[in-house]
Amino acid sequence: MSSTEITITPTEWEIMRMVWAEQTITSPKILELSSNIFDWKSSTVKTLIGRLIDKGYLNKDTSVRPMLLTPAISEEEANYSRIDDKVSQMCTKDRGSLITHLIEKNELSIDEIQEIIELLQEKKQTAPTTVKCLCPVGQCSCHIN
Ligand SMILES: [Zn+2]
Repeated sequence: MSSTEITITPTEWEIMRMVWAEQTITSPKILELSSNIFDWKSSTVKTLIGRLIDKGYLNKDTSVRPMLLTPAISEEEANYSRIDDKVSQMCTKDRGSLITHLIEKNELSIDEIQEIIELLQEKKQTAPTTVKCLCPVGQCSCHIN
């Protein structure tokens, strides 16, 4: 996939989470699971599944009844792409504070912290003194004054 942009709506995302959790799932199973969590009509769930198939995020195996659904994209790939997309809309100079914010806000295991420390030590070797803004004029406040 050349473009990493993923266009999954928040409700479609809830369906994808069930598919990612089960890996192989039927529509009736999604209906059953979603009825425990959401107040969705069965027609709504069927529409959401249909859209995800049309968009290429779900694979269907129609050789069996009911058909089997599997994810066409991994949860990790979808999550990273979603975040990369948001970050790409920010000035490069603002990204460091976002990362600090994420670290502050989220519980991390000792191992995860160690991994981050090692990564940061490695990045520090080649880090610039200041991050350059790459935004076109008018897209951020770096060019004002
Ligand atoms: Zn900027």
